[in-house]
Amino acid sequence: MVTIVSSATCHHYHEAEVDAAVLQAIDLLGGIGSFVSPGMTVLLKPNLLTGADPQKAVTTHPMVVASIARLLTASGCRVVIADSPGAGTRYTPSSLKKAYERSGYTPLAAIPGVHLNEDVSHTTIPSPEGRVVKRFLVISPAVAADVIISLSKPKTHLLTTYTGAVKNLFGVVPGHEKSAFHSRFPEAEGFSEMLLDLHGAIVPVLHLMDAVVGMEGNGPLSGTPVPVGLILASRNPHALDRVACRITGIPETLVPTLSVAEDRGLIEGEISIIGDDPAHLAIPPFRLPDTARSAGLMMKISRKVLARFQRGSRVLLPYPAVMASACIGCGACVRICPVHAASIREYRAVIDLSLCIRCYCCHESCEVAAIQLRQGSLSCIILGRRQ
Ligand code: SF4
Ligand code: SF4
Repeated sequence: MVTIVSSATCHHYHEAEVDAAVLQAIDLLGGIGSFVSPGMTVLLKPNLLTGADPQKAVTTHPMVVASIARLLTASGCRVVIADSPGAGTRYTPSSLKKAYERSGYTPLAAIPGVHLNEDVSHTTIPSPEGRVVKRFLVISPAVAADVIISLSKPKTHLLTTYTGAVKNLFGVVPGHEKSAFHSRFPEAEGFSEMLLDLHGAIVPVLHLMDAVVGMEGNGPLSGTPVPVGLILASRNPHALDRVACRITGIPETLVPTLSVAEDRGLIEGEISIIGDDPAHLAIPPFRLPDTARSAGLMMKISRKVLARFQRGSRVLLPYPAVMASACIGCGACVRICPVHAASIREYRAVIDLSLCIRCYCCHESCEVAAIQLRQGSLSCIILGRRQ
């Protein structure tokens, strides 16, 4: 079986260039009419991790969201743009409004037929085929829509090495329910099993990726934007992620969502890239997150075994460290920490490493970059690296 991933060159977030690339990527898969019908309500699910300037490449660029929204409304669809930000952000109308404003999404509501979601209710859905999760709490617009189109962003990720099409769907889990999953699945493999169960319960009809600019380093919040120059699309999120990893030089062996998908037989056979050949872009490999070297080392030995020993120690996995001089005491890390290892003392965050499960949500949540990752002492010896 051949799985198709379409590719369209797009170097800038200029309206005409983005429109042409989005149209090309979708036309190569059969056109927008093969995914939606007139009268449908379509949920666009961008990566709205937090309210962030679009130039930081944290979020799906509003120009890409606007482009597909216009394409859908021209096809007679009603469009709802919805996501539940992560990064310790409360899922409330006011925090959503702030995230829309900061990410440049507010003007999207002015497009006729487009609605920026303000409904913060949630609904439980079954996951009968789920291997590790049998039901999910999800934001109500994800259930109310006739179809979902995922709009992801290729970025490095401290826990899962890479985030793209598969991880983007985690945004339908509301607010702090996300922390519960981090607590329940502290290791990247278990977390990835959960993500794939979520994809069994909620199935977007199309996965479009804003790879005009990606993120390398300590993503998904504090990495460095890197030009890639592509809009990618596929019906299969795993094939899309595999292609994105190959384009950005992220080793697939370090991406547990891909390993789990392969184990489940979700990316069997050949992947065919149609459209513009990404090879002509000659993109230098993305710099991996600081956690990736440890992850690679431990995958060889068995993360599961080592996790029993590393928890509560500074020995192997990188650990979060608060820089008191930079901390503004906002409490975002405290709110997101799934095991209550972070707290505020004297207006500054402190982390109890004996409780910390190394999920790195606090690092992801800190908008002023006051949380650094430091290599454990044994890792420094093994990797020959000084802190
Ligand atoms: S480390 Fe300080 S500034 Fe950063 S999220 Fe925690 S409380 Fe806020
Ligand atoms: S303190 Fe540890 S467990 Fe809590 S959010 Fe940070 S990395 Fe995760």
